[in-house]
Amino acid sequence: MDKPRPPSSRKDSGETQPRSEGATLFTTPPNFIKDIIDEDMAAGKYQGRVHTRFPPEPNGYLHIGHAKSICLNFGLALEYGGLCNLRYDDTNPTKEEVEYVESIQEDVRWLGFAWHDRPYYASDYFDELYEFALKLIKKGKAYVCDLAADEIREYRGTLTQAGKDSPYRNRSVEENLDLFRRMRAGEFPNGARVLRAKIDMAAGNLNMRDPVLYRILHAEHHRTGNRWCIYPTYDFAHGQCDSIERITHSICTLEFEDHRPLYEWFIEELEIYRPQQIEFARLNLTHTVMSKRKLLKLVNEDYVRGWDDPRMPTISGLRRRGFTPEAIRAFCERIGVARKDSMVDIALLEYCVREDLNRRAPRVMAVLRPLRVVIDNYPEGQVEELEAINNPEDPDMGTRQVPFSRVLYLEREDFREDPPKKWFRLAPGREVRLRYGYYITCTDVVKDPKTGEVVELHCTYDPATRGGSSPDGRKVQGTLHWVSAAHAVEAEARLYEHLLSVADPSEQGEDADFRAFVNPRSLEVVSDARIEPSLKGARPGSRYQFERLGYFSVDSDSTPEKLVFNRTVTLRDTWAKIEKKEKAK
Ligand code: ATP
Ligand code: MG
Repeated sequence: MDKPRPPSSRKDSGETQPRSEGATLFTTPPNFIKDIIDEDMAAGKYQGRVHTRFPPEPNGYLHIGHAKSICLNFGLALEYGGLCNLRYDDTNPTKEEVEYVESIQEDVRWLGFAWHDRPYYASDYFDELYEFALKLIKKGKAYVCDLAADEIREYRGTLTQAGKDSPYRNRSVEENLDLFRRMRAGEFPNGARVLRAKIDMAAGNLNMRDPVLYRILHAEHHRTGNRWCIYPTYDFAHGQCDSIERITHSICTLEFEDHRPLYEWFIEELEIYRPQQIEFARLNLTHTVMSKRKLLKLVNEDYVRGWDDPRMPTISGLRRRGFTPEAIRAFCERIGVARKDSMVDIALLEYCVREDLNRRAPRVMAVLRPLRVVIDNYPEGQVEELEAINNPEDPDMGTRQVPFSRVLYLEREDFREDPPKKWFRLAPGREVRLRYGYYITCTDVVKDPKTGEVVELHCTYDPATRGGSSPDGRKVQGTLHWVSAAHAVEAEARLYEHLLSVADPSEQGEDADFRAFVNPRSLEVVSDARIEPSLKGARPGSRYQFERLGYFSVDSDSTPEKLVFNRTVTLRDTWAKIEKKEKAK
C-alpha cells in the first residue's frame, strides 16, 4: 500500500483545496472558529497554513449532521486557501464496510467538495501508531493490562470517586514490550489483554484514568486484511493521525471536549507536531434521528427501505428525495457554527430546498388523484396544444405545449359536491379557470350507484376564454391544474411526511425508544397519478414543480412503463410561519 505524501509538502508545492466542478464557493458564516484561525494567521502560527480534515468512521452512511461538518471543514480550507483531507477513521474492523467507504466519497463529492489525489485512512498509519505505542511503553507511559473489560470499568471509578490502580500497572518496560509484541503476534485471544496509557487513576477527567490504547481483535480489516490483530482505539489514533497529516485545526463536535486533554497528552508525550482541537455543537434536527447507530436500526429493522430511503436524514436519502447540494449547502450556511447545543427545526431545511427549486425546477401539471371530467360541448376528437410557461421565475426556461382535449383529469380534492363557504374550486354550477386553458362550469355529477362516490363530472367550457380570461370581464376565483386523459402518462407518487411524529424523541422520557415515534404516515404511495406527456422518459433525479402540489423528483425505481416520483417538499412554507412567530415574540 502506498503511503500518502506528507501534506506539508503538498502545501509547500503551492497546492490548495481543489473544488469539484460546478461547486460554488461555500462561505462559512462568521463564527468563533474563523476568529481562532484569523488570530493564528495573524500570529504566524502554522506559518499561515490552514489544514483541516473530515474524519468519518465508515460504519454507516453520512447524514445531514455530517454535511454541517463537511461544509465547515472543506469550506474553511477553500476560504483560507488551505487544504482539507477526507480521512476515514477506520480503526474498528468489526463495524466497517467497503460499501460505507464508497458511499461517503460519493456523498462528499455530490455535496460539491473535492480532495487531492486520494482519500486518507487511519489504517494507513497502523505502523506509525504501533511505533508510537512502543515509544510510550519505553518511556514508562504505557503498560499491558490483563484486567477484563468489566474490571477495567470497575477500577475506573466514577465522576465522584477516584479510580483504583490496575495490579498490572507497574510491570517493567521489558515485560510490557514483550507482552505487547506478543499481542501483536497473535498469541492471545480477543479481550485477553489491552495496552493502556499510564496517566492518573485519580484524574478528575475520566478519560485520563489510564485509557486503553490498543485492544486485541482477531478480525479482518477492509484494507489491511489480516495483517493486524490489535487495533488502536479512537483516542489513540485520532490526534496522531492529525499530527502525521500536519493538520492545523482539528475541528470536532462537543462530545470530544473531554477528550482534548488526552489528545494533547499523547502529542506532548510522543513529542510530535501539535495540531489544535476545536469543538463545535453538532447539528440536531427536529422530527428525525441523527446517529448512525439509530439509522442503522431503522434500516435493519425495515422501518425504511434502506439508507437512501427518501425519509432518511442521510445525504443519500435527501439526494434521492430530490434535494440539491446547493440547498444543503445553503442550509449549512444558515444554521451557522456555535458552541452551544441547539435543535434546528426541520422546516428550515425544507425552506432551503424549496427556495432553490423555486429558482430552477420546471413547472408541470400532474394530477395525483384523478377525477374524470368530460367537457360536453368540446368537439370530440379535437386536440389543442396550449402554451405553458416552464418557470415564471426564469423566463429563459421558455415554454412548452400541453395538449387539451374533451376528457380531462382534475384533482379529486378540487371538487366538492357540497362546498363550504369561500370554496373557489369546482362544485355543481360553479365556474373555474383551467390553467393555460379555458373557463369550465360544472353541469352534472355522476356517482357510483352502489357507493355514492363521485366518479365523473360533466362540464361545459367557454371557447372565448382560451388562455384564461374572458372578453366580458367576468371573474373566476379558482385556477385548477389538469391533464388530458388521452395524453397523460401514468405515474406513481410517493408522498413523504416527517420520519418521526414527535419533534424531539429525547423529550419523551428517559426510557422512550425513538422507534416508538416512527411516523406511520411518513410514506403514502399514490399509485394512479397522471402527469402531462412532456415528462415521458424523464430521467431519474430530474426535478419538477407539480403545479399547486409541490416539488417532485424522478425516483430510480422508475421503469419505461411507469415513472415513480418522490415528493421532495410541499409548496406550503411552514418556516415562514415559524419565523413570523419568532419575530412577534
Ligand atoms: P454518529 O453519532 O451519527 O455515528 P459520529 O460522530 O460517530 O456520528 P463520525 O463518522 O465519527 O460520526 O463523524 C465524522 C465527523 O462528523 C466528526 O468530526 C463528527 O464530529 C462530525 N459529525 C457527526 N455528527 C454530526 C452532527 N450531527 N453535526 C455536526 N457534525 C457531526
Ligand atoms: Mg463515531
